[in-house]
Amino acid sequence: MKIKLVALLLLMAGNVPAFSQEKKVKLPPEATEFWEPEPRVVTPGEVDHLPPSDAIVLFNGTTLDHWKSVGKEAAAPWKVENGAFTVVPKTGGIETKASFGDVQVHLEWRAPVEVEGTGQGRGNSGVFLMKTYEVQILDSYDNRTYSNGQAGSVYKQHPPLVNAMRKPGEWNTYDIFFAAPRFNADGMVLTPARVTVIHNGVLVQNAVELKGPTEYIGIPNYKAHPEEMPLMLQDHGDLVSFRNIWVRKL
Ligand code: MG
Repeated sequence: MKIKLVALLLLMAGNVPAFSQEKKVKLPPEATEFWEPEPRVVTPGEVDHLPPSDAIVLFNGTTLDHWKSVGKEAAAPWKVENGAFTVVPKTGGIETKASFGDVQVHLEWRAPVEVEGTGQGRGNSGVFLMKTYEVQILDSYDNRTYSNGQAGSVYKQHPPLVNAMRKPGEWNTYDIFFAAPRFNADGMVLTPARVTVIHNGVLVQNAVELKGPTEYIGIPNYKAHPEEMPLMLQDHGDLVSFRNIWVRKL
């Protein structure tokens, strides 16, 4: 009787599609939004983060020479002005010409002083480590969205511990400490990626383990990639500005 039951279960299992990315189970984007708990608000102190002596400076206020259009050889088309640069909507993301694995990243970003849109449509950009793993940039000052999609989140994976946003029009800093994932020769993940994020001097991600690449829809699943890849900034259609970007290879 027991053997028959097991056989029946095995037979049934064969007819049920496995829950894998390959089968592309169709989830709506809302399925991976987590709204509770909401990170509490913390008011950041003053900060100043000039590059240390061993930093690779990726933007010092004058040119985007260290950057290019994502996936193209064309120059980065974003607008440099007054020691900062700003997304030019619909021109696409930009990526560094150099590649990085384990890395410390410092960057400063600012959401437009004129608030437009709500939720994910307000001051949205993102820092993609290895062009794959997004630390969200969003104007999360008095702007509720899902917790795992607000500023300082590892998008759709980890909400920030707190909300350390400055007001629209003020500069925010990110200090990111990233350990790249390791894969074996078969492409299996041996060590998942980890990230620590400090937002305006406040710890918002404490060595969290990434579940895989950033996915807007569905569940992340690691895919093997090179040991070093570019850093990418997202064009999400909003006028987010950046300045003082430097990295240190770890
Ligand atoms: Mg984003």
